[in-house]
Amino acid sequence: MTEFRRDPITGRCVIVVPGRSARPNEHAVIAPSAPIEPDCPFCEGNEARTPSEVAVLASPGRRPNERGWYVRTIPNRFPTVAAEPPGPEPHEGPLGFESRPAFGYHEVVIESPSHAPLLPFLPREQVLRVMRMCRDRVRYLSERADVGSVTLFENAGPESGGSLWHPHAQLVTVPGLSPSLEEELEGAERYRQRSGGDCAFEEVRRAEVGDGARVLFDSGGFTAYAPFASGYPFEVRVLPSRHAPSFGNATDAEVDELAERLPALLRALLALVPGASYNFVVRTPVVASEARDRYHWHLDLYPRLVRPDGFDIGSGYPVNTVTPEVAAEALRTELGAKR
Ligand SMILES: [Zn+2]
Ligand SMILES: [Zn+2]
Repeated sequence: MTEFRRDPITGRCVIVVPGRSARPNEHAVIAPSAPIEPDCPFCEGNEARTPSEVAVLASPGRRPNERGWYVRTIPNRFPTVAAEPPGPEPHEGPLGFESRPAFGYHEVVIESPSHAPLLPFLPREQVLRVMRMCRDRVRYLSERADVGSVTLFENAGPESGGSLWHPHAQLVTVPGLSPSLEEELEGAERYRQRSGGDCAFEEVRRAEVGDGARVLFDSGGFTAYAPFASGYPFEVRVLPSRHAPSFGNATDAEVDELAERLPALLRALLALVPGASYNFVVRTPVVASEARDRYHWHLDLYPRLVRPDGFDIGSGYPVNTVTPEVAAEALRTELGAKR
């Protein structure tokens, strides 16, 4: 049955069209084997070709911007936002033609000195270093007075929007709340007023666990499920059991568990859909408010298996051709997890 589904928190509506491509492998795209890029600026030995590092995990005695590192964080050479003090005041033209300088920090976390493999296939201790670096950068950026939200994300594969193959994550800050966070925070507040509970994210998690059909795992510190109104085939939300507004607040134990579970989840996706491109995203509201304290941080995985067509763009309804229940069952089986 084709159906409209509404997200319980954001209220955003999607259309689920099962059967159009019921079998995951119909989505298969070209398998990503690391292309040969002799000039890759992220590879060990090419440190001089990137901006100076702002944080690093390296062997003792190693000098800055030289070989011998495990994970390196650098400012993005082609930033989306400019790290210059905000210049001119916002300019509002006639009839709401508003513009203002896009100020913020844009960092790249280089996840490995080697060009391959991608994150899901890195050794466990290396993933742990990467996740701790990401947590620490979220924390560091969140403490800056000129940061309103932080978006931590990874682009992997040709359909992900990324331009470099070398495994890396990125962080971009903006001075206020990003539109996605605004939507989530407002939605969470509406949900809370309807339900009378404290944390909308926690209540949705409980409802998902109670239903079970879309749950991938629910153990230890995290729950993972295919959201009821997933806009992307095989979309997954990973939510920590402990309430905290920011990934920057994650404990070492939580980061360790995520460093185990995230690569396993990505490998499950890649086993089902060889060569799948994907993005994963962790949003962090920094602007102090009650709504901010009620945010419950989470990681969203968006596989990029189909391109939006004219109807998606024209109507505003994402069309998802894999029912979230089917996606969850396939991923659960692949993970070897029991419901
Ligand atoms: Zn490289
Ligand atoms: Zn919560």
